[in-house]
Amino acid sequence: MSASSRRDFLQSLGAFALLPLRRTEPQTILYNANMLTIDTRNPRAQAVAIADGRFLAVGSNDEIRALSNSQVEKVDLQGAAVLPGFIDAHTHPCYAGLRHLRQVDCDLRSISDIQAAVRQRASQTPPGAWVLGFKYDDTKTSEGRPLTREDLDAAAPSHPVRIEHRGGHTAYVNSLAFKMAGVSETTPDPAGGRFDRDPSTSRLNGRISENARQVIEKLIPSTYSRDDYREAVKLISRLMSRAGITSVHDAQGSPEDLRAYQDAHAAGDLSLRVYCLIDYPHIDRMIEAGVRTGLGNEWVRVGAMKMTCDGSISERTARLSEAYVGRPEDYGILVMTEEDRYTRSRKAHEAGWQIGVHANGDVAIDIVLRVYERLQRELPRRDPRFRVEHCTVVTDSLIQRIRALGAIPTPFSTYVYYHGEKMRHYGLERLNRMFALRSFLDAGIRVTQASDYPPGPFEPMMALRSEVTRTDMKGNVWGPSQRVTVEEAIRVGTLHGAYASFEENLKGSIEPGKLADLVVLGRDPLKEQPLSLVDIPVQRTMVGGRWVFEA
Ligand SMILES: [Zn+2]
Repeated sequence: MSASSRRDFLQSLGAFALLPLRRTEPQTILYNANMLTIDTRNPRAQAVAIADGRFLAVGSNDEIRALSNSQVEKVDLQGAAVLPGFIDAHTHPCYAGLRHLRQVDCDLRSISDIQAAVRQRASQTPPGAWVLGFKYDDTKTSEGRPLTREDLDAAAPSHPVRIEHRGGHTAYVNSLAFKMAGVSETTPDPAGGRFDRDPSTSRLNGRISENARQVIEKLIPSTYSRDDYREAVKLISRLMSRAGITSVHDAQGSPEDLRAYQDAHAAGDLSLRVYCLIDYPHIDRMIEAGVRTGLGNEWVRVGAMKMTCDGSISERTARLSEAYVGRPEDYGILVMTEEDRYTRSRKAHEAGWQIGVHANGDVAIDIVLRVYERLQRELPRRDPRFRVEHCTVVTDSLIQRIRALGAIPTPFSTYVYYHGEKMRHYGLERLNRMFALRSFLDAGIRVTQASDYPPGPFEPMMALRSEVTRTDMKGNVWGPSQRVTVEEAIRVGTLHGAYASFEENLKGSIEPGKLADLVVLGRDPLKEQPLSLVDIPVQRTMVGGRWVFEA
């Protein structure tokens, strides 16, 4: 084929429709694939041609092979299912990577196993230095009771210990940690936080919630070097690439995290693309430096300003209008006043920042939407794409307001499956209004997929099982009215994630001109029994035309 007829042919396939391409010769061709493209104009395809890290053409085996020449690398996918790469729209990769690097992984199934792991770490740590742990889950240990201060005292009496719940809003500390922080039985709870007490003795039980964590946090010296940060990003991006994730939104980045992603990319160690939301205390300095949402490139980009409104679902501290089941006095926790939230949001909104606020409970979501509505009344901006992070417990009227604002919810994708045993605290009726994918899609809202890892596992295949079946790992059904189809769940996990970062013209579907990010699966999710979606193996992951994972 001549260069001009090649160009005509590519034009006829819709190439160049989105972005100007530098090259018309493919470098790689993938063929014999069973592709679900998530491009409504061309939903199924057998083959793609790739050049300069982007899709050059998408079509049938014959159409794409016609573009080939002897220099082109040709990969026969032997009928394998291919999807656009998954986009995890709310996760904490650098935070998680740092913990994987240095802390005790407490994703263990008994308190005695956790004690053993803490004891072992303490034996390698100088007395008086901190022993830190993460990913503890109070509902998954065989003792059927939560970890206590006494458990940690027994494991490490001469080290201050702080174990984070995997939800990230509560932690468990020992007596020495309390002593170093000057917290005694008579210390009052800080605003927006709680030092929990044993209900039978009224004594501190070691659990600290929300803002009370800062009393301990500020005592812990940061021992991570710039190299550690880069290593952390390398480690977590490898783990996520194995699962088929090609882009992430870091939901609460610091300047150190942002630098770590850039360092990892420069070192060739970043295997996924990062849209980095920036935690609000850093925003003033960034605004002064002229930074706003969107700055960066297709690998590392500055995302929204991130704030938090209430507690967590997995730790049962989200702020609800109706109390938790079995705890009639407990409505959860709000962590910031509405006026403070408005003032900070207004400044960021005016400076061109997207805003994302963590709001789980319906009370918190109402507050966040009220602030967004006020901003658009006072300082209307075209297409601000406000985000409601998690947006877990909704009502019809909240959904209508989200639609009217064009806002984006990022609900937990793997919670029904992974955190099933916590769902009873919310009750069957309320579960039909939680992680409300069906309601969001029916309202035309571009809801995303989001793990919040560490709080939820990040595997996209687990997300599909959770969202399609609304069953937990034991098969219990939670909120069946929110079920979606497999194809809808895939669209939510790909194209909608791209929209949430203003990148829907760059990625999220397999179409000419977009970044060549895709995942090759061992089985076709559209033909799979819904309960076994979670078991579909990921064979390969491609980012920018390069394989970043091959099984
Ligand atoms: Zn989060």
